[in-house]
Formats: sequence, C-alpha cells, structure tokens
Amino acid sequence: MSAQANPQKPERRACAAQSAIPVYRPDLSGNERAYVLDCVDSTWISSIGAYIGKFEAAIAGVVGARHAAAVCNGTVALHLPLHCMGIGPGDEVIVPAFTYIASVNTIAQTGATPVFAESRAGDWLLDPPDVERRITPRTKAIMPVHLYGAACDMAAIMEIARRRGVRVLEDAAEALGTTIHGQHVGTFGDVGSFSFFGNKTVTTGEGGMVVTDDDALAAQLRQVKGQGQSLTRRYWHEVLGFNYRMTNICAAIGLAQTERLPQILAAKRRLASFYKETLASLPVTFQRPIDGVESADWLVSLLLPPGTDRDRLMADMQGAGVETRPVFYPAHHMPMYRSEEHFPVAEDIAARGISLPSFPALTDDELGRVCEALTNALRQQGKA
Ligand SMILES: *Cc1c(COP(=O)(O)O)cnc(C)c1O
Repeated sequence: MSAQANPQKPERRACAAQSAIPVYRPDLSGNERAYVLDCVDSTWISSIGAYIGKFEAAIAGVVGARHAAAVCNGTVALHLPLHCMGIGPGDEVIVPAFTYIASVNTIAQTGATPVFAESRAGDWLLDPPDVERRITPRTKAIMPVHLYGAACDMAAIMEIARRRGVRVLEDAAEALGTTIHGQHVGTFGDVGSFSFFGNKTVTTGEGGMVVTDDDALAAQLRQVKGQGQSLTRRYWHEVLGFNYRMTNICAAIGLAQTERLPQILAAKRRLASFYKETLASLPVTFQRPIDGVESADWLVSLLLPPGTDRDRLMADMQGAGVETRPVFYPAHHMPMYRSEEHFPVAEDIAARGISLPSFPALTDDELGRVCEALTNALRQQGKA
C-alpha cells in the first residue's frame, strides 16, 4: 500500500503529488465491486453468507488441501492452529529470526517460547540443520516461513519433524501461488496459513485462511474460530474459543480476487523477470529459491552490495518517485524478544535487503523507472 502522506509536512505532500510508484497497490478490477454490492444488497454483511464457503472452497482448490477455514486476518490464521494443536506455556516453537513479527508474536500469544533459528544465505529462509540443532524435549512445533514468495526446503524440514516427532505449521502468508515440484506450500506440514492483507497476492482488506488435510484438526479450527460453539448445537460452547471469523464482504472480495489469481501471478512473474533481466549487471543479489520451487514473487526483493547506505539509497529512490521497503528487522533485535545471540546470515539479509514495487498492474514504463532509480542511487554511492 502506498505510504500515507503526512498533512503536517508539506514536502511529503509534494512528493505524493508527483505520484510516486508505490511498493504495492491491490488490483480490484474484477468482480470485487459486484460481489461486495451483492453482500450489501442482500444484507449478508457479517460472518454468515454464501461467499465464505465459496472463498474457502476456492482457496482449498488452489492449494490442493482438503479443508480451508477463513479467518479475519493472517495473524490469527497462525494463532488459531497453534492454539488448536495444544501449544502453550512450557512449549517451544522454532521460528526463523528473520521473519515478519506476526510469526513470532503468535507463538508468544499462546504462552509458548519462540526459539529463533538461522536463515540460509541463498533463499533467506529457515536453515534445516540449524532447526535440528535447536530441538529440545520441549519443542512442540516448527514454523517455516515462506518469505517473499519463495519456499522453504520442506523436504528437509518435514524429514526432521517426522523423525523428531514435532508438528509443522507453515506460515505461507506471503506465498499464495508458490509451489515445490508442483505441490503448493501450506500443504507439506500439518497445517498452513495464508494472509489476505492489502499488499498480499490475494487480498480481502484484512483476512486469512488456515488449510489442512487433517479432518479432526479442521473441525477443531472451525469450532474454535467461532467462540468454541458446538458445530451442531447453537449457543452450546464446548471449548475455549475466539471470534476469528471472516466477514462475507471480505470473502466476496477474496473470491473475486481468487478468480483472477492466474492473471495476478502471471503479472507478478513477468515483473520479477523484468527486474532480474534489467538489473542483471548491477552488484545486487536477488532472493534465490532452491531447485523445484516456483516462486509467486510476492515482493521482488534484493540485497544491496555490502557497504551501501540503505537509508540514503531509499531516500534517493523516493526522490526519484519510487517507493521501496527495507526487508524485516530480525525478531531477536526487537525489545520484547531481545537476545544476545547472533544470527549472522539473518542479520546480514535484514541489514542489506530492500523490496521493489511489485504490484500486478505495474507497466513496463514504471518498471523501467524503478530500475533507473535504483541504478542512479547505487551510482551516487559509487556502487554501480
Ligand atoms: C502478512 C504476514 C502475516 C500475517 O499478517 P496479517 O497482516 O495479520 O494478515 C504473517 N506472516 C507473514 C510472514 C506475513 O508476511
């Protein structure tokens, strides 16, 4: 989503008026409007309505899972399965230090302890041998996170998890459309989670989805997301529950988005190829998915050359009308998860990474402007 202009600061407003190319802008040009109006006209605007089941079926179909449960955001799409798998105080869950904070927060929200693991230099994702080293008798689950549209080495992670008897929850929030040898991410572990925030590949404004092939877990997810109410007896609450339901309006937008997922993914693959070809001669390093991975190219992201002043480069690009984003700060640097331990690979990626504008409607002209702005900003620092 584009940066919010600050009305107190006239210079910011001037910048916005130049129509900077944002990092993301959802494409709502299909049936989104018609389906939302249908919700309003029919008065089915809350969490009961035909679009919810249709959207769940559409996502289950896309990823090839037996069950999909819609929830109100991608964060609760992680908390709900952690809770339903019985993870709580005294337990440990292994998660990469380099991830979006929701992965870590949801573990802490259950009362369990997040145990950070290192990333790999090539694909920036969870390092399986490091995961294995961190397993203790308290480890209940591993949370691989498929960042920026790439996919973790799920063969290696599942081998470790099965051998050591721990569950696997895949955080696939950024990876709708990503496959490993044709199998969709989110279906390798016990359960997988997706986010439909405004900048995700499919958006519902705020929204999420939990997918699983496990019939018993699926029934539990459905019950717990609806206040623990019995699935057959109204107002009879059998277990502790939450209100994590998605609205019919959100599901209506999601269904319309999912109808156009093939076009959205094709557009993103095209822009990722454009960037990689056009920037091939620069000393930047793109995220490199492992063999067999078809990345959905959520946000095209790269590492700047060592020694680049990232803040200055991003400010220079903003001045040229191009918004960029730094990648995530590592979770073990945040005040509430602070640790003295070092994760050199994760820290290096976090310090040098940026994401480029990656929304499906980007034109060749705009892509060219982004590449030119990056090249010029690197030249300013003698890096190109
Ligand atoms: C977006 C995202 C989430 C979930 O975020 P919501 O904003 O709650 O939908 C979780 N994990 C990762 C890695 C994400 O990028």
